[in-house]
Amino acid sequence: MEKILNKEDYLKSISNRDLTIYLMGELVKDPLTHPIIKPSIEAMAETYELAVSEPELASVKSPYTGENINRFLHIAENSEDLFLQNKMQRKLGQLTGTCFQRCVGMDAFNALHSVTFEIDEKYNTPYHENFKSFLTEMHKYNLVIGGAMTDVKGDRSKLPHEQEDEDLYLRIVDRNEKGVYVKGAKAHQTGCINSHWMVVMPTLRLSENDKDYAIVGAIPVDADGITYIYGRQSCDTRSMEPGEYDVGNKYFAGQEAMVIFDNVFIPNEYIFMNGEYDYASMLVERFTTYHRRSYVCKAGVGDVLIGAAATIAEYNGVENASHIKDKIVEMNKLNETIYATGIASSLQGSETKSGNYINDDLLANVCKQHVTKETFEIGRLAQDLAGGLVGSMPSGIDFNEGNMSKDLKKYLKGKDDINAEDRVKILRLIENMTLGRNAVAYLTESLHGAGSPQAQRVQIRRKVDIEEKKDFAKKLSGVKERD
Ligand code: SF4
Ligand code: FE
Repeated sequence: MEKILNKEDYLKSISNRDLTIYLMGELVKDPLTHPIIKPSIEAMAETYELAVSEPELASVKSPYTGENINRFLHIAENSEDLFLQNKMQRKLGQLTGTCFQRCVGMDAFNALHSVTFEIDEKYNTPYHENFKSFLTEMHKYNLVIGGAMTDVKGDRSKLPHEQEDEDLYLRIVDRNEKGVYVKGAKAHQTGCINSHWMVVMPTLRLSENDKDYAIVGAIPVDADGITYIYGRQSCDTRSMEPGEYDVGNKYFAGQEAMVIFDNVFIPNEYIFMNGEYDYASMLVERFTTYHRRSYVCKAGVGDVLIGAAATIAEYNGVENASHIKDKIVEMNKLNETIYATGIASSLQGSETKSGNYINDDLLANVCKQHVTKETFEIGRLAQDLAGGLVGSMPSGIDFNEGNMSKDLKKYLKGKDDINAEDRVKILRLIENMTLGRNAVAYLTESLHGAGSPQAQRVQIRRKVDIEEKKDFAKKLSGVKERD
């Protein structure tokens, strides 16, 4: 295999692979040409494209190979690196209007760098060296890594070993001197089919009885025993309709799939945790700390939606109305709140024992908590500015080719100097991002990705030092003596 240098190399690297992918009951022959899957591959490919068009933003020199690699593969060496990840994420959100899928691997890598080091320190295991060799291999070829964390979880009140069906969390089912075999399923795996490798990781704090579930290892996405079942997105079959009129964003989409592992082998050298259940929660916490501020991606996607809302206001001739201007201000304020908390988290990074950097966990959780809410409010305001037509527009075929095309072009016109076709296109983009395919990326993923809202509230409660705050109040009120 040659090192991937650009989008073309990437597309070539994922062609002719033997993946078992089901989509609507059928085996997918070629994901690259499948109309539903292709836009998600294009979104991933943008991460390579950006490294060519803006190398200072999306590429960086690897300390392992001495050559340039994509920033998504880089281990943060300082707070500036963490911040640059955020800048790149916002940019890619602006360019694609959806989830470009590559941050999970970046955040998993950064978490594993420190966690493997700390496991080794306690247990004298070889995980950090294993991990660095794997990292070097990924850098050498400039590959895409997926991070596979979320198990299907069964009864949420029970630990993995307490489940009636033991496979509801990914676990080791067999071992030999060369490695382990794993079985289970990972849910809503972002970009898995567009990756080269994935790293499986436990999804929650584990107990001593869950040792078989404490497995972290790297697996090529085309390994024997893996099956992908593609996740449906609202209005996804519009990509299969003639004319491409109604898709809203014909270029890009996100991707989630369920991945089923049926006795998949992981050789020893690709194992980064094996039974050290007491480190599962540290891994989950560090991964989510990185990943929750990666959601500044949504500020980039929000930039597109705000742009669409401002454009439709203009096309409708209402852009100067004071309440419209105020709504656009509000959308921007909400959007920048997402970005501000994310970059603040990155810029307050600190060094871990292994020498890499991790962003501030309290602010990462505050960022993600904003993402769960502000995106919905921005989406609501975008629909407000769009008007009811966003949910009632005739099809593109009627508009462009049907018997009523001439009438529709007359009656769907807004402002005099704007043609009806442009107005319809912008309305379809707003529909795509708030109701259609990319609403999965902009809204549902904002709510549940990197942990559902309550998970962040629990972390915020843990991280805030409320006793210190009480002390401030007590001293100024006179309840307590000032020092
Ligand atoms: Fe990256 Fe955002 Fe997609 Fe997560 S949701 S992979 S942070 S683009
Ligand atoms: Fe995600």
